[in-house]
Amino acid sequence: MSPKFRYYSTNRHLDKVPGITPFRETVSFREALLMGQAPDEGLFMPEQIPVVSVEDFKALKGAPYTEAAMLVAENFLAGEIPAEALRRIIDDAYSYPVPLENVFARKYVMRLDQGPTASFKDFAARMMARLMSAFRDPSERLNILVATSGDTGSAVGDAFRGVEGIDVTILYPRNEVSERQKKQLDTIGQNVRAVSVDAKFDDCQNLVKQAFSDPAFAGFNLTSANSINFGRILPQIIYYVYAWAQLARETEPAVFSVPSGNFGDALGCEYARRMGLPVERLVMPTNENDEFPRFLETGRYEKISPSRACLSNAMNVGHPSNLARFFDLYGGTVDRNGVVHRLPDIEEMKRRIYSVSISDRETKKTIKRIYDQHRVLLEPHGAVGWRGLEVYLELFGDAPLCISLETAHPAKFPDEIRELLGIIPDLPQSMKDIDERSGHPVFLRADYDEFRTYLKEHLRVAG
Ligand SMILES: *Cc1c(COP(=O)(O)O)cnc(C)c1O
Repeated sequence: MSPKFRYYSTNRHLDKVPGITPFRETVSFREALLMGQAPDEGLFMPEQIPVVSVEDFKALKGAPYTEAAMLVAENFLAGEIPAEALRRIIDDAYSYPVPLENVFARKYVMRLDQGPTASFKDFAARMMARLMSAFRDPSERLNILVATSGDTGSAVGDAFRGVEGIDVTILYPRNEVSERQKKQLDTIGQNVRAVSVDAKFDDCQNLVKQAFSDPAFAGFNLTSANSINFGRILPQIIYYVYAWAQLARETEPAVFSVPSGNFGDALGCEYARRMGLPVERLVMPTNENDEFPRFLETGRYEKISPSRACLSNAMNVGHPSNLARFFDLYGGTVDRNGVVHRLPDIEEMKRRIYSVSISDRETKKTIKRIYDQHRVLLEPHGAVGWRGLEVYLELFGDAPLCISLETAHPAKFPDEIRELLGIIPDLPQSMKDIDERSGHPVFLRADYDEFRTYLKEHLRVAG
């Protein structure tokens, strides 16, 4: 087996930028997965994107989700992992439904909220965990460190629970997550430890960064699991392929609307189109963090710092980490601080992508209107997606097939839903017992020496 595609860093051209030594080598998928980020702090991208025929996409009609997953994953990973091993990973990762709910005419909501932690992040985390387990060196343990303010921590924690040879440490800010989120994080158990920190999210992230650059942990195989890892992007290509195959007539193109924060989800759609999936336009609505729609309008990029706190809290991002990958795909370069070194082809971007900022007020109105008119229940992230689609259709005229993504379960937002609709959403099966679970979090102050001592006592090295 010889690996097909090599992966390069988005920072490879930055040779005149102080503090950056561009990484000009390429690595295999395995290396990109286990390293997470490139040594120059750029993001890994595949040198080529596999192309699939429309007939092969069409052939997935009526087939289970796992078949779409196999088609996408095999095309990227052939030569890196045997097909039978990939099949086992996929069957094990995707054991829950992916509803395509009709709203009216041929407008659909794709519900990505049926996984074990009820957000779309389950799709990527579950496959990435299993790929890491398959690709790791069996003689060594992997130690994953994540700082989280919500959905990522619980999805990653749940996905890695019981995975052999990998331990996970999750840091979360005690006073910035909801009671239910705390329960979700504290009660994962087994090889997953939750550390409740008396600090803000940024402090948690700093503790993690310090540990990554601490020579004392050089031999511990520390890895991150956030959406800078290409292993989290690959699984997010699959549901676009699945939805299109189920709903398209002949080879008609679809409009997808993807509520966006760090742009990892939308990037999955961009790759699906480049693989040959008929996508008419990728709509990327944001909340009031409008740095990207402004960029498309004005050609100037200004990150928002600090980011604005909106109802759709998982999208409160003032400089999306995956913007570097979008820029790269359209011929530009932007670094992690939001400095643009080369502009992408904005006209081409605008032909493929439409982005618009949706206010909290519009988000609430949309939740109420869609429920009243169509009895379709959306939470704030999904409502930003739906409203963005409506704005797009008003501007560009009707499109036959439209699919808007719902990225979290409405039961994660009981107060907002009760206030707007007067109902209490049912908890999904996976969360039914959440209020009764008991957990034993570790409590720490935002102090690196304390965190370091804790890690030294708990991290294991041997596989
Ligand atoms: C993370 C998240 C998003 C944003 O996804 P990105 O890939 O960061 O753009 C949207 N909705 C929910 C519920 C999320 O958890």
